[in-house]
Amino acid sequence: MFDTLQDRLASVFKGLRSKGRLTEADIDATMREIRIALLEADVNLGVVKEFVTAVKTRALEAELSKALNPSQQVIKIVNEELVAILGGEARPIRFAKKPPTVIMLAGLQGAGKTTLAGKLARWLKSEKHTPLLVAADLQRPNAVQQLQIVGERAGVHVYAPEPGNGVGDPIEVARGSIAHAEAKLYDVVIVDTAGRLGVDAELMQQAADIKAAVTPHETLFVVDAMIGQDAVNTAKAFDEGVGVDGVVLTKLDGDARGGAALSIARVLGKPIMFASNGEALADFDMFHPDRMASRILG
Ligand code: GDP
Repeated sequence: MFDTLQDRLASVFKGLRSKGRLTEADIDATMREIRIALLEADVNLGVVKEFVTAVKTRALEAELSKALNPSQQVIKIVNEELVAILGGEARPIRFAKKPPTVIMLAGLQGAGKTTLAGKLARWLKSEKHTPLLVAADLQRPNAVQQLQIVGERAGVHVYAPEPGNGVGDPIEVARGSIAHAEAKLYDVVIVDTAGRLGVDAELMQQAADIKAAVTPHETLFVVDAMIGQDAVNTAKAFDEGVGVDGVVLTKLDGDARGGAALSIARVLGKPIMFASNGEALADFDMFHPDRMASRILG
């Protein structure tokens, strides 16, 4: 993950280590290299500019203190600013005071929503919750079956369309699932919704209608990190069309560059809440900006 960026930053810092004291010209040169490294990693240009300005301002100020050696000072500042653009602090799920907490998943087809639904359910179960998975993706022929398989692997019940649950109508299924959760005392309802290959009006409308029907406590936008800046653009479209509370990045294990991860929280102004790192249900955790920054800095 983020191999090139890691290597580039490591070599920038290596060059600094030999210097006893940093001049403004040294700092400028370092900033240029960091800027190129971030742009090559496909980080949003606005985010890059903001990041470089913040690091440079602090580096110039920090030079005066001379508390640590210069390269350590720069690494510390870069680390802190990386944490800031990644969202600062981890953002946990806001559980409803009165259960069930409703979590709606939205995103494009293939983003990893169904897999993520299973991962989230498994994780919630390990945190002593009683989640219910809801198959409200009735677009893809085998989406319901796929969620049932995922639910079985996670050991979590799946509420699916059938007579009485609303056959063929995702809004009815979603609505019915809330009543079912209340009756059967499930404390978290995870609603998997349909995706399309691209953003379209019909997809947005359906997601918005499901949202209106179930009033989720958290609407999570699930996105494949490997699509880079397209992830950021799609997130913006969903936020405008449906309204999202947080982002889940999937396929971070295959994301060699890191552009989406390093841009999306800042551009969208919404936190990355979870990260998905593989096809197995256990490859999942809350997203911790500080841990991610440490990984990038190696
Ligand atoms: P959906 O269309 O949004 O429901 O997406 P799926 O959950 O069906 O996932 C699409 C594909 O991506 C499947 O082949 C998943 O196994 C795969 N996938 C999902 N999450 C991850 C992940 O974090 N890492 C990797 N490598 N593959 C993933």
